[in-house]
Amino acid sequence: MSDPNASRQTGTIQQFYEALLQTETYSAKNLARFQDNVLKDLLPFVARHVPFYRERLAPVLRSDGSFDPENWTKLPILAAAEFRANREAFRPTELPASHGAVARYVSSGSTGGATAFYRSALSEAAQNAAHYRHYQAFKLDPQRNLAMIRAFDNTLARSRPELLDRTKISWTAEWFAGGAPGMIEPLTVFTPVASQVEWLNGLGEVYLNTFPSNALAIARYVARNPGARPRLLAILTAGEPLTGEVRRQCVEHLGSSCIDLYSNAECGLIACDCPSGNVMHVQSELNRIEILGQNDKPARPGEWGRLIFTPLYNFAMPLIRYESGDLVRVTEPCGCGRNHPAIERMIGRPSNLFRLPRKKWFRPELDSAMMEGLLGNSRWQFIQTGASAFELHYMPKNADIDIRKLRHVLKKALGQGSSVEIKPVAALGPASSGKFLAISNRFRA
Ligand SMILES: [Zn+2]
Repeated sequence: MSDPNASRQTGTIQQFYEALLQTETYSAKNLARFQDNVLKDLLPFVARHVPFYRERLAPVLRSDGSFDPENWTKLPILAAAEFRANREAFRPTELPASHGAVARYVSSGSTGGATAFYRSALSEAAQNAAHYRHYQAFKLDPQRNLAMIRAFDNTLARSRPELLDRTKISWTAEWFAGGAPGMIEPLTVFTPVASQVEWLNGLGEVYLNTFPSNALAIARYVARNPGARPRLLAILTAGEPLTGEVRRQCVEHLGSSCIDLYSNAECGLIACDCPSGNVMHVQSELNRIEILGQNDKPARPGEWGRLIFTPLYNFAMPLIRYESGDLVRVTEPCGCGRNHPAIERMIGRPSNLFRLPRKKWFRPELDSAMMEGLLGNSRWQFIQTGASAFELHYMPKNADIDIRKLRHVLKKALGQGSSVEIKPVAALGPASSGKFLAISNRFRA
């Protein structure tokens, strides 16, 4: 730790972490007050230094330039397309020295192509601290090693900037680990699943961090080869929808539960699994998250809402009331003692949900073992291609496929009035980001 910037950053993360342990039990009202306190600095800064916002923030700025929280909902919502079209106008002309250096990220983006984002060191520190709180909530042992099976090409993936030597990185800091922290063991997600499992077995007892689709592939491999079961302490997932089916398969065949995070490139960490319930908690100290239902009113429990977020610390590319395109479902408050808004665990995007005419968004849950039986272990992808048209793609293996039965299963998952075409394809695998969406929507109404 001879680099003064590195040790300053460590100190900041630790301070944030300690603050987050305090705010964890704040009432909903105090959490809102906490956000207003940060916004009191952010909004006048943005109005002064970020060209895009000069006029736009008028509803929440008093005549002396200070922030008026009362009129928050009068601020216009920022659409992703509007942001992309004016991206350079979102960068401030200057940044307070206390916010540190600025890192650049690129989001793979399932629809709009790759998009660059900038984050300050201060907002990175807040993100890191929230990850640590998440590890602490699940009582993870930071001295154990972490196997990471992901895409490490940071020209496309939503990953942290590539470090020079990935073989010597710990996944937490020494102050947090209370001793020598465990190391990251990296492997690319494009490795064949049999080799992944063999590699995991060589690591002994480890945590695993990977995409839900890859965790499922490992679980199904082990279901067919029970002797190959690796010794996983827990599975940390992020980056794709984690379905109930993936959770069940991991518990059954890997003996290990999934601990999920929900984040994106623009905003960073948005929500974390609750250790004591079946919900995720929004990370209110990092972001003001709004979930808007009908007529832009806050969504009620059980209702899908559009996710609107305002990252509180990222002065390097401030986004105010940004519409992510993600859809979440609000739940009743969680009984665990955290007052952070609770949302259903599975996050949807119009790109990974289906919708039939005049119906709600939904995701068919197909039993992995049954699909495997029907398709002879082939990977598959179920795609909406039209208003009520769907295709099932699979890579044919040397097995007879009962097309009639398969079609029956798929139509049952969709309901009346839909058509399904079953198509063998030559190749089917993760995108360059490492993600694979088994349920994918290519239809734009
Ligand atoms: Zn909870």
